[in-house]
Amino acid sequence: MTALPLDAELPWLRPAQEAFTASLAAGRLGHALLVQASPGQGGEWLATWIAARMFCRKPAAPCGACLDCRRVVAGEQPDLLTLRPIEDSKEIRIDQVRELAAELALTAHGGGRKVAILAPAERLNRNAANALLKTLEEPPGDALLLLVTGEPWRLPVTVQSRCTRLRSRVPSDDESVAWLQAQRPGSSAVDWRAALAVLGPQPLAALAVDAAGLAGLQRDTERALQDAMTGGLDVVETAERWGKDEYALRVACIERWIAERLREWGRGKRGVAAPALFEALDHAREARQWAETPVNKPLAMERILWRLATLAAAARR
Ligand SMILES: [Zn+2]
Repeated sequence: MTALPLDAELPWLRPAQEAFTASLAAGRLGHALLVQASPGQGGEWLATWIAARMFCRKPAAPCGACLDCRRVVAGEQPDLLTLRPIEDSKEIRIDQVRELAAELALTAHGGGRKVAILAPAERLNRNAANALLKTLEEPPGDALLLLVTGEPWRLPVTVQSRCTRLRSRVPSDDESVAWLQAQRPGSSAVDWRAALAVLGPQPLAALAVDAAGLAGLQRDTERALQDAMTGGLDVVETAERWGKDEYALRVACIERWIAERLREWGRGKRGVAAPALFEALDHAREARQWAETPVNKPLAMERILWRLATLAAAARR
Protein backbone atom coordinates (compact mmCIF):
# COMPACT_ATOMS: atom_id res chain seq x y z
CA MET A 1 0.00 0.00 0.00
CA THR A 2 3.01 2.28 0.12
CA ALA A 3 3.26 2.14 -3.67
CA LEU A 4 2.08 5.75 -3.72
CA PRO A 5 4.89 8.22 -4.46
CA LEU A 6 6.19 10.46 -1.69
CA ASP A 7 4.66 13.53 -3.32
CA ALA A 8 1.17 11.99 -3.41
CA GLU A 9 -1.59 14.27 -2.15
CA LEU A 10 -3.68 12.71 0.61
CA PRO A 11 -5.64 15.74 1.85
CA TRP A 12 -6.84 14.07 5.05
CA LEU A 13 -3.20 13.44 6.07
CA ARG A 14 -1.96 16.92 5.28
CA PRO A 15 -2.59 18.35 8.78
CA ALA A 16 -0.54 15.48 10.24
CA GLN A 17 2.28 16.15 7.77
CA GLU A 18 2.22 19.85 8.66
CA ALA A 19 2.19 19.10 12.40
CA PHE A 20 5.18 16.81 11.97
CA THR A 21 7.11 19.37 9.94
CA ALA A 22 6.40 22.07 12.54
CA SER A 23 7.60 19.84 15.41
CA LEU A 24 10.75 18.95 13.52
CA ALA A 25 11.52 22.59 12.70
CA ALA A 26 10.95 23.63 16.32
CA GLY A 27 13.15 20.81 17.64
CA ARG A 28 10.15 19.45 19.56
CA LEU A 29 10.17 16.02 17.99
CA GLY A 30 10.16 13.29 20.63
CA HIS A 31 11.56 9.79 20.41
CA ALA A 32 8.34 8.04 19.51
CA LEU A 33 5.32 9.03 17.44
CA LEU A 34 1.98 7.27 17.42
CA VAL A 35 0.92 7.71 13.80
CA GLN A 36 -2.84 7.41 14.05
CA ALA A 37 -4.02 6.27 10.63
CA SER A 38 -4.87 2.78 9.46
CA PRO A 39 -2.99 1.30 6.49
CA GLY A 40 -6.15 1.77 4.38
CA GLN A 41 -6.10 5.48 5.25
CA GLY A 42 -2.43 5.83 4.40
CA GLY A 43 -0.83 5.30 7.82
CA GLU A 44 2.12 3.40 6.39
CA TRP A 45 2.50 5.84 3.54
CA LEU A 46 2.63 8.67 6.11
CA ALA A 47 5.29 6.82 8.13
CA THR A 48 7.33 6.31 4.96
CA TRP A 49 6.96 10.01 4.15
CA ILE A 50 8.16 10.93 7.65
CA ALA A 51 11.14 8.60 7.31
CA ALA A 52 12.04 10.16 3.96
CA ARG A 53 11.65 13.61 5.56
CA MET A 54 14.24 12.58 8.14
CA PHE A 55 16.76 11.24 5.61
CA CYS A 56 16.33 13.58 2.64
CA ARG A 57 18.86 16.42 2.65
CA LYS A 58 17.17 18.61 0.02
CA PRO A 59 15.56 21.89 1.07
CA ALA A 60 12.11 20.68 -0.03
CA ALA A 61 12.41 17.40 1.82
CA PRO A 62 11.26 14.80 1.12
CA CYS A 63 12.06 15.54 -2.51
CA GLY A 64 11.24 12.01 -3.63
CA ALA A 65 14.04 12.03 -6.20
CA CYS A 66 17.37 11.91 -4.31
CA LEU A 67 19.16 8.70 -3.40
CA ASP A 68 18.03 8.94 0.25
CA CYS A 69 14.37 9.25 -0.72
CA ARG A 70 14.57 6.47 -3.30
CA ARG A 71 16.23 4.19 -0.78
CA VAL A 72 13.44 4.80 1.73
CA VAL A 73 10.74 4.01 -0.83
CA ALA A 74 12.58 0.90 -2.03
CA GLY A 75 13.08 -0.31 1.56
CA GLU A 76 16.85 -0.12 1.11
CA GLN A 77 17.71 2.70 3.51
CA PRO A 78 20.10 1.02 5.98
CA ASP A 79 19.13 3.37 8.85
CA LEU A 80 15.42 2.68 8.41
CA LEU A 81 14.15 -0.43 10.21
CA THR A 82 10.70 -1.88 9.80
CA LEU A 83 8.84 -4.26 12.11
CA ARG A 84 5.83 -6.10 10.75
CA PRO A 85 3.86 -9.05 12.09
CA ILE A 86 5.40 -12.43 11.42
CA GLU A 87 3.32 -14.10 8.74
CA ASP A 88 1.96 -17.12 10.62
CA SER A 89 1.34 -15.60 14.03
CA LYS A 90 0.02 -12.23 12.76
CA GLU A 91 1.86 -10.73 15.72
CA ILE A 92 4.89 -8.57 16.30
CA ARG A 93 6.91 -10.59 18.79
CA ILE A 94 9.38 -9.97 21.58
CA ASP A 95 12.41 -11.29 19.68
CA GLN A 96 11.68 -8.80 16.89
CA VAL A 97 11.58 -5.97 19.43
CA ARG A 98 14.84 -7.10 21.03
CA GLU A 99 16.48 -7.31 17.63
CA LEU A 100 15.26 -3.80 16.89
CA ALA A 101 16.74 -2.47 20.15
CA ALA A 102 20.07 -4.12 19.32
CA GLU A 103 20.04 -2.68 15.78
CA LEU A 104 19.24 0.81 17.05
CA ALA A 105 22.23 0.64 19.41
CA LEU A 106 24.59 0.38 16.43
CA THR A 107 25.93 3.58 14.87
CA ALA A 108 23.81 4.95 12.04
CA HIS A 109 25.33 4.36 8.60
CA GLY A 110 24.54 7.88 7.46
CA GLY A 111 25.56 9.51 10.73
CA GLY A 112 22.06 10.84 11.45
CA ARG A 113 19.12 9.48 13.42
CA LYS A 114 17.87 5.99 12.80
CA VAL A 115 14.17 5.55 12.16
CA ALA A 116 12.04 2.52 12.96
CA ILE A 117 8.53 1.89 11.63
CA LEU A 118 6.27 -0.54 13.52
CA ALA A 119 3.16 -1.32 11.51
CA PRO A 120 0.46 -2.13 12.34
CA ALA A 121 1.49 -1.37 15.91
CA GLU A 122 -1.65 -2.90 17.46
CA ARG A 123 -0.23 -6.29 16.50
CA LEU A 124 2.51 -6.03 19.12
CA ASN A 125 1.77 -8.87 21.49
CA ARG A 126 1.87 -8.23 25.21
CA ASN A 127 5.46 -9.35 25.77
CA ALA A 128 6.66 -7.41 22.76
CA ALA A 129 4.86 -4.28 23.97
CA ASN A 130 6.47 -4.63 27.41
CA ALA A 131 9.89 -5.11 25.89
CA LEU A 132 9.38 -2.00 23.78
CA LEU A 133 8.74 0.35 26.74
CA LYS A 134 12.37 1.05 27.54
CA THR A 135 13.25 1.64 23.89
CA LEU A 136 10.35 4.09 23.63
CA GLU A 137 11.63 6.06 26.59
CA GLU A 138 15.25 6.17 25.63
CA PRO A 139 15.89 4.86 22.16
CA PRO A 140 19.59 4.09 21.73
CA GLY A 141 21.33 6.51 19.41
CA ASP A 142 18.50 9.05 19.52
CA ALA A 143 16.38 6.96 17.14
CA LEU A 144 12.88 7.97 16.07
CA LEU A 145 10.21 5.29 16.45
CA LEU A 146 7.02 5.47 14.40
CA LEU A 147 4.15 3.32 15.64
CA VAL A 148 1.48 3.16 12.95
CA THR A 149 -2.04 2.19 13.96
CA GLY A 150 -5.64 2.85 13.06
CA GLU A 151 -6.68 1.40 16.42
CA PRO A 152 -4.54 3.14 19.08
CA TRP A 153 -6.89 1.98 21.87
CA ARG A 154 -5.70 -1.58 21.26
CA LEU A 155 -2.19 -0.63 22.39
CA PRO A 156 -1.34 -0.85 26.11
CA VAL A 157 -1.75 2.49 27.88
CA THR A 158 1.91 2.27 28.91
CA VAL A 159 2.92 2.28 25.24
CA GLN A 160 0.45 5.02 24.25
CA SER A 161 1.60 7.30 27.05
CA ARG A 162 5.22 7.13 25.90
CA CYS A 163 4.40 8.30 22.39
CA THR A 164 3.51 11.68 20.97
CA ARG A 165 0.27 11.37 19.02
CA LEU A 166 0.24 12.36 15.40
CA ARG A 167 -3.45 12.41 14.63
CA SER A 168 -5.02 12.35 11.21
CA ARG A 169 -8.66 12.79 10.36
CA VAL A 170 -10.91 10.23 8.70
CA PRO A 171 -11.60 11.09 5.06
CA SER A 172 -15.24 11.74 4.18
CA ASP A 173 -16.86 9.59 1.48
CA ASP A 174 -16.94 12.52 -0.95
CA GLU A 175 -13.27 13.22 -0.34
CA SER A 176 -12.37 9.55 -0.78
CA VAL A 177 -14.34 9.20 -4.01
CA ALA A 178 -12.75 12.36 -5.45
CA TRP A 179 -9.32 11.07 -4.48
CA LEU A 180 -9.96 7.62 -5.96
CA GLN A 181 -11.19 9.10 -9.23
CA ALA A 182 -8.06 11.24 -9.43
CA GLN A 183 -5.89 8.16 -8.79
CA ARG A 184 -7.69 6.14 -11.45
CA PRO A 185 -8.66 8.46 -14.28
CA GLY A 186 -11.18 6.66 -16.46
CA SER A 187 -12.71 4.85 -13.49
CA SER A 188 -15.95 6.84 -13.63
CA ALA A 189 -17.89 3.58 -14.14
CA VAL A 190 -16.47 2.14 -10.91
CA ASP A 191 -18.81 2.41 -7.94
CA TRP A 192 -16.23 3.63 -5.42
CA ARG A 193 -18.98 4.51 -2.95
CA ALA A 194 -20.08 0.86 -2.83
CA ALA A 195 -16.48 -0.23 -2.27
CA LEU A 196 -16.09 2.30 0.58
CA ALA A 197 -19.38 1.14 2.08
CA VAL A 198 -17.90 -2.34 2.42
CA LEU A 199 -14.35 -1.36 3.35
CA GLY A 200 -15.11 1.65 5.52
CA PRO A 201 -13.40 5.05 5.04
CA GLN A 202 -10.22 3.51 3.65
CA PRO A 203 -9.45 4.95 0.22
CA LEU A 204 -6.07 3.23 -0.11
CA ALA A 205 -7.69 -0.12 0.61
CA ALA A 206 -10.38 0.66 -2.00
CA LEU A 207 -7.65 1.48 -4.49
CA ALA A 208 -6.05 -1.91 -3.87
CA VAL A 209 -9.17 -4.00 -4.44
CA ASP A 210 -10.95 -4.83 -7.63
CA ALA A 211 -14.02 -2.64 -7.13
CA ALA A 212 -16.11 -4.51 -9.71
CA GLY A 213 -15.31 -7.83 -8.08
CA LEU A 214 -16.15 -6.33 -4.71
CA ALA A 215 -19.59 -5.22 -5.92
CA GLY A 216 -20.22 -8.79 -7.15
CA LEU A 217 -19.16 -10.22 -3.81
CA GLN A 218 -21.49 -7.85 -2.03
CA ARG A 219 -24.48 -8.82 -4.21
CA ASP A 220 -23.69 -12.50 -3.73
CA THR A 221 -23.46 -12.08 0.06
CA GLU A 222 -26.71 -10.14 0.27
CA ARG A 223 -28.55 -12.73 -1.82
CA ALA A 224 -27.34 -15.49 0.51
CA LEU A 225 -28.37 -13.51 3.60
CA GLN A 226 -31.86 -13.05 2.15
CA ASP A 227 -31.95 -16.82 1.60
CA ALA A 228 -30.86 -17.36 5.19
CA MET A 229 -33.81 -15.25 6.33
CA THR A 230 -36.27 -17.39 4.38
CA GLY A 231 -34.72 -20.64 5.53
CA GLY A 232 -33.43 -21.41 2.04
CA LEU A 233 -29.69 -21.32 2.69
CA ASP A 234 -27.32 -24.23 3.19
CA VAL A 235 -25.68 -22.63 6.21
CA VAL A 236 -22.87 -25.13 6.72
CA GLU A 237 -21.79 -25.15 3.09
CA THR A 238 -21.95 -21.34 2.82
CA ALA A 239 -20.07 -20.80 6.09
CA GLU A 240 -17.37 -23.21 4.95
CA ARG A 241 -16.92 -21.28 1.71
CA TRP A 242 -17.06 -17.79 3.24
CA GLY A 243 -14.70 -18.78 6.03
CA LYS A 244 -12.05 -19.68 3.47
CA ASP A 245 -12.04 -16.93 0.86
CA GLU A 246 -12.62 -13.22 1.34
CA TYR A 247 -13.51 -13.68 5.02
CA ALA A 248 -12.95 -10.05 6.03
CA LEU A 249 -14.88 -8.69 3.06
CA ARG A 250 -17.76 -11.09 3.65
CA VAL A 251 -17.96 -10.01 7.29
CA ALA A 252 -17.96 -6.35 6.19
CA CYS A 253 -20.81 -7.09 3.74
CA ILE A 254 -22.77 -8.89 6.48
CA GLU A 255 -22.32 -6.02 8.92
CA ARG A 256 -23.48 -3.54 6.34
CA TRP A 257 -26.52 -5.67 5.46
CA ILE A 258 -27.61 -6.12 9.08
CA ALA A 259 -27.14 -2.41 9.76
CA GLU A 260 -29.37 -1.69 6.76
CA ARG A 261 -32.08 -4.06 8.13
CA LEU A 262 -31.86 -2.20 11.44
CA ARG A 263 -32.35 1.12 9.67
CA GLU A 264 -35.42 -0.33 7.94
CA TRP A 265 -36.68 -1.46 11.32
CA GLY A 266 -36.15 2.06 12.61
CA ARG A 267 -38.24 3.39 9.72
CA GLY A 268 -41.11 1.17 10.86
CA LYS A 269 -40.64 -1.94 8.73
CA ARG A 270 -41.29 -4.84 11.09
CA GLY A 271 -40.74 -8.56 10.55
CA VAL A 272 -37.55 -9.31 12.38
CA ALA A 273 -37.14 -8.23 15.98
CA ALA A 274 -34.50 -5.57 16.46
CA PRO A 275 -32.90 -7.25 19.53
CA ALA A 276 -32.16 -10.32 17.42
CA LEU A 277 -30.67 -8.17 14.67
CA PHE A 278 -28.52 -6.38 17.23
CA GLU A 279 -27.35 -9.76 18.45
CA ALA A 280 -26.44 -10.83 14.92
CA LEU A 281 -24.62 -7.52 14.46
CA ASP A 282 -22.63 -8.19 17.63
CA HIS A 283 -21.64 -11.60 16.26
CA ALA A 284 -20.53 -9.98 13.02
CA ARG A 285 -18.49 -7.29 14.80
CA GLU A 286 -16.83 -9.95 16.90
CA ALA A 287 -16.12 -11.96 13.77
CA ARG A 288 -14.40 -8.91 12.27
CA GLN A 289 -11.89 -8.85 15.14
CA TRP A 290 -10.93 -12.41 14.22
CA ALA A 291 -9.95 -11.68 10.64
CA GLU A 292 -6.26 -11.61 11.52
CA THR A 293 -6.28 -14.42 14.08
CA PRO A 294 -6.13 -18.19 13.78
CA VAL A 295 -9.77 -18.51 14.98
CA ASN A 296 -11.84 -21.05 13.05
CA LYS A 297 -13.42 -18.78 10.40
CA PRO A 298 -16.07 -21.16 9.01
CA LEU A 299 -17.33 -21.67 12.56
CA ALA A 300 -17.50 -17.92 13.14
CA MET A 301 -19.48 -17.56 9.89
CA GLU A 302 -21.79 -20.39 10.87
CA ARG A 303 -22.62 -18.64 14.13
CA ILE A 304 -23.77 -15.51 12.32
CA LEU A 305 -25.73 -17.36 9.66
CA TRP A 306 -27.49 -19.63 12.16
CA ARG A 307 -28.43 -16.61 14.22
CA LEU A 308 -30.03 -14.99 11.17
CA ALA A 309 -31.74 -18.23 10.12
CA THR A 310 -33.22 -18.95 13.55
CA LEU A 311 -34.35 -15.41 14.18
CA ALA A 312 -36.09 -15.38 10.81
CA ALA A 313 -37.75 -18.69 11.58
CA ALA A 314 -38.95 -17.30 14.93
CA ALA A 315 -40.37 -14.24 13.17
CA ARG A 316 -42.33 -16.45 10.78
CA ARG A 317 -44.01 -18.39 13.57
ZN1 LIG B 1 15.07 13.48 -1.16
